[in-house]
Amino acid sequence: MDAKHLSKRLTCVAEYVPSGSRLADIGSDHAYLPVYLMLQGRITFGIAGEVAVGPLTNAQREIEHYQLTDVLEARLADGLAAVTPADQIDTVVIAGMGGRLMCQILLAGHQDGEQYQRLILQPNVDIELVRAWLMQHHYALVAESVVRDDGHYYEVLVAEPGFAHYTAAELMYGPFNLVTRLTAWCEKWQREAARLQMIMDQLDQANQRDSVAYQAYQQRQLMINEVLIK
Ligand code: SAM
Repeated sequence: MDAKHLSKRLTCVAEYVPSGSRLADIGSDHAYLPVYLMLQGRITFGIAGEVAVGPLTNAQREIEHYQLTDVLEARLADGLAAVTPADQIDTVVIAGMGGRLMCQILLAGHQDGEQYQRLILQPNVDIELVRAWLMQHHYALVAESVVRDDGHYYEVLVAEPGFAHYTAAELMYGPFNLVTRLTAWCEKWQREAARLQMIMDQLDQANQRDSVAYQAYQQRQLMINEVLIK
């Protein structure tokens, strides 16, 4: 992967960046995403935010390589502290990290009074926590996608300011996913049901069928199967 050839995962993220955006990519690593979008003429300004020096250096190098230093800035900062009101950022991407860390980053930005026209989030795990955060902080999902890349399934959430209430099932599986039922989404949950079955089989072999853990796995698997059957 490089700035001219994004992974399927980052391509999916990029598709949700509106044309003409002023973008902040938080946790940008090599800055592949903002460089790609600038080379495509899709954004007019971008910040590649990084908390770690090594990735920041990679980002700076990438921006310089494509001579984009006038329109893309790599900044060393924790989360949304990379962004100031003067930047007039309207679109924020946070991709490739856990949902808990993502919520911490979003919360710190929110406490600073920031609200963005669009958030594009790709949490690797704890995705339901991110949906709950959005709901509790007056963002509504406007799109969701799931993409299979290199044997892994990645979810992309797109949110804009607004009010929404999500049920427990919608928080877990995604309100849009439950309707669109993309093949990748079905596969992701089929795989999770199979993983839970393997654990349950092991517990069964260890005579733990009556254990609290077994019941909990069974409950989770039942919920998944119910959702998949619909
Ligand atoms: N966003 C890129 C992607 O999706 O391919 C890079 C993902 S990389 C796995 C996660 C990056 O987030 C790392 O470079 C890490 O240094 C950065 N990061 C972690 N916590 C951060 C924070 N609080 N603020 C800014 N960057 C952070």
